[in-house]
Amino acid sequence: MYDALDRWLRLSAARIHDQAATLTALDQAIGDGDHGINLDRGFAAIVAQLDPTPPDGTEGDIARSAGLLRNAGRTLISKVGGASGPLYGTAFLRAGSALTTADAAIAPGDALLSALEAAIAGIGGLGKATTGEKTMLDALVPALHAGEAAREAGADVAAIVASVATAAETGATATIPLLATKGRASYLGERSIGHQDPGATSAALLLRSLADAIVAG
Ligand code: ADP
Ligand code: MG
Repeated sequence: MYDALDRWLRLSAARIHDQAATLTALDQAIGDGDHGINLDRGFAAIVAQLDPTPPDGTEGDIARSAGLLRNAGRTLISKVGGASGPLYGTAFLRAGSALTTADAAIAPGDALLSALEAAIAGIGGLGKATTGEKTMLDALVPALHAGEAAREAGADVAAIVASVATAAETGATATIPLLATKGRASYLGERSIGHQDPGATSAALLLRSLADAIVAG
């Protein structure tokens, strides 16, 4: 799990860097045009802090994974301004905490879904948002539900995260006709309709990167 999450954070940082202009253009349409810049800065800082040393074997894989996610969360909160820094930072902190309390023998798919569920609860609590408000939750919540359905159907971890990523992408696209009722985009009222939410787009990018990082293992 630790190696997959390490790969995930590096892959996410590279893709966010490549897509920074696109994310920023989405945020220019319905926000202040900083979303790509914010995340690029934050994920570059996460990668800079990743531990290059191999595990010494004293700490279990799930415990190390929890620490990795919690460190990433702290970095996002300290390095990223705007709404998305605290929101994603809290999501990573909560995901890490979910792994801290998980059984060391938890199946990888179960671990990832419980981390995603905790991340969503963290974002919803901090942002006081729910689905249908044109935010990152509109990618993340359907992604969790798709992953849970795949798990119920007996899918392995690769198939679970693939369904998570696909549902997140569908959810991000489905924000286009929504009216924003949270964050800066809500200031636009009806003029927020017709644009894809930047946070839902970056959330889908992160979950597609997770699926690709798992398969690469
Ligand atoms: P800011 O809006 O402060 O400039 P960013 O541009 O980095 O911050 O992030 C904007 C994204 O944050 C939005 O596209 C949306 O997905 C997400 N967001 C904003 N407010 C909330 C909220 N209250 N709850 C959940 N997500 C939110
Ligand atoms: Mg912005």
